[in-house]
Amino acid sequence: MALSRRELLVAVPVAGLAVASGLPARGEASAAPRRVLRLAHLTDLHIQPEREAARGVAACLEHVQSLPERAGLEAPDLIVTGGDTIMDCLETGRDRTKLQWDLWRKAKADHCGLEVRSVIGNHDVWGWTKSKAGTKGDEPLYGKAWACEEFGRATPWESFDKGGWHIVLLDSTFPHQESYIGKLDDAQWDWLEKDLAAVPAATPVLVISHIPILSIYPLAVGRPESEGDALPTFTVNGNLVHVDHARFQKLFAKHPQVKACLSGHLHIVEDIEYGGMRYLCSGAVAAGWWRGFHHGTDYGYSLVDLFDDGTVACRYVPYGWKTQA
Ligand SMILES: [Zn+2]
Repeated sequence: MALSRRELLVAVPVAGLAVASGLPARGEASAAPRRVLRLAHLTDLHIQPEREAARGVAACLEHVQSLPERAGLEAPDLIVTGGDTIMDCLETGRDRTKLQWDLWRKAKADHCGLEVRSVIGNHDVWGWTKSKAGTKGDEPLYGKAWACEEFGRATPWESFDKGGWHIVLLDSTFPHQESYIGKLDDAQWDWLEKDLAAVPAATPVLVISHIPILSIYPLAVGRPESEGDALPTFTVNGNLVHVDHARFQKLFAKHPQVKACLSGHLHIVEDIEYGGMRYLCSGAVAAGWWRGFHHGTDYGYSLVDLFDDGTVACRYVPYGWKTQA
């Protein structure tokens, strides 16, 4: 596997650069940071019967597990799916929703021997667009219940400890009219504040959400609009980026052990540092919904290395999928 210059640069942890250049690491001269956890972040899989998507997802899972033979890299300790596991059930009827979840369950059972944890994405929420899905809202699997059942969880969010890190999986998707908005509700804010307060100061934290907490994407692809002599203005839709990002920044300021936020949803690769926080976005297994690259982003996944000094290294790994008719 060939990594581009940018990917190689992104892959080098900041503290590693300091050591490699002969500069002392922050504080005192210490040993190079030790990688304690490697996770593969497979987001926006959008599995569906069309365009050989199930075979593409299988190829991606196999690629992750063949990294030792393929690229001389150690296999990850776990896979985190970042949401939008299936093409869509927000506005899809029961039969096709079941068909898509069946494809995911089979791909996982047949092609994955690693631990998998899953984040819920907007397209994994069943039936909120009732006029198209034909739902009433009283179905036992309505909303997030279906995805929770598929992921074997009681709640749409969770946190766990692994490799000396605390990993938080958020639920970014809440109803807005017949669709969704990117935010946490009061119950999840309450849970998150308590969860982070209980993390020891020396334990680094990675926060994973489907919708990015912060992103440059709406500006990068947007066009400023203006009427008459008015100042041209960019618009950021509240279903692209978390509308409550300011509250996150306040919370993270209270908990400096939170080192990075990882997301999907946008199908592009981003690495932003803002206010002392890394905001990473991991492209998409499905690239442009199985129809080709999306804004230059190939079919791929992120390999995320977490180090004992709280640094994070992330590289985007295309898995070689070619668009099928
Ligand atoms: Zn999404």
